[in-house]
Amino acid sequence: MHIDVFTLHPAMFAGPLTESILKRAQEMGALSISLHDIRDHTEDKHNTADDTPYGGGGGMVMKVEPVVRAVEAVIASSSGVPVILMSPQGRVFNQRLASELSQESRLALICGHYEGFDERIRQTVVTDELSIGDYVLTGGELAAMVIIDAVARLLPGVLGDPDAPIKDSHATGLLEHPHYTRPPAFRGMTVPDVLLSGHQANVERWRRQESLRRSWQRRPDVLLKAALSDADRWFLMELAQADIAERAQKDDRPPQG
Ligand code: SAM
Repeated sequence: MHIDVFTLHPAMFAGPLTESILKRAQEMGALSISLHDIRDHTEDKHNTADDTPYGGGGGMVMKVEPVVRAVEAVIASSSGVPVILMSPQGRVFNQRLASELSQESRLALICGHYEGFDERIRQTVVTDELSIGDYVLTGGELAAMVIIDAVARLLPGVLGDPDAPIKDSHATGLLEHPHYTRPPAFRGMTVPDVLLSGHQANVERWRRQESLRRSWQRRPDVLLKAALSDADRWFLMELAQADIAERAQKDDRPPQG
């Protein structure tokens, strides 16, 4: 996969792109990234990429010409390459979208700054808009890095364990089960016996149930869309009954204080 990033701050990418999985993905040839400085496509001597908004008001607006020129210099409009604007107004990025994007051979990400973009940027070069969540960042660079990271780890061969992305939280539709490694006991907290039993079928059942428990406790909304077996449903019913019993017990207690 090749990713073109259009930004006013290419230096922001130095750390994340040169460490850990993103470094490895590039070294093994699964991913290449070109950073394009939007200011290189300005035409005045001050390299102005922003201007005051028509209609007045605070903040500056990213100018249309430098961004459109920068994108058109590397991506032909007929190429079919997704050109994605980082924007709090876009579709909210999630694991399904990461998986869809990982099927592309090339992507372009445009990072905004200031109050926003001249609307004509959307109308000329942009094919999609993505948000990384319902909050506002100073610029699109961190959002682009989040998307690059989530997509890169899905590219074939990038992770040591090829099954890891399939088992991750949200990829299965559920949150992942808890993990343990050595030592077997730490400050009185021990590793569940089943994980030390060597009985793989029991380990897998425990992981599935803990994944269901975690999803039930933290993100019950994900259970509505997850593919559940009859055994999963029975287990969830037991969890619900245990919750109801616990609440009833609390309600029976005499008032405290
Ligand atoms: N005034 C804009 C609005 O209300 O939609 C927000 C502008 S924000 C300060 C500057 C830039 O940061 C945006 O143009 C976008 O590129 C990026 N950005 C901010 N929040 C984002 C988010 N949640 N997801 C993706 N990009 C974001």
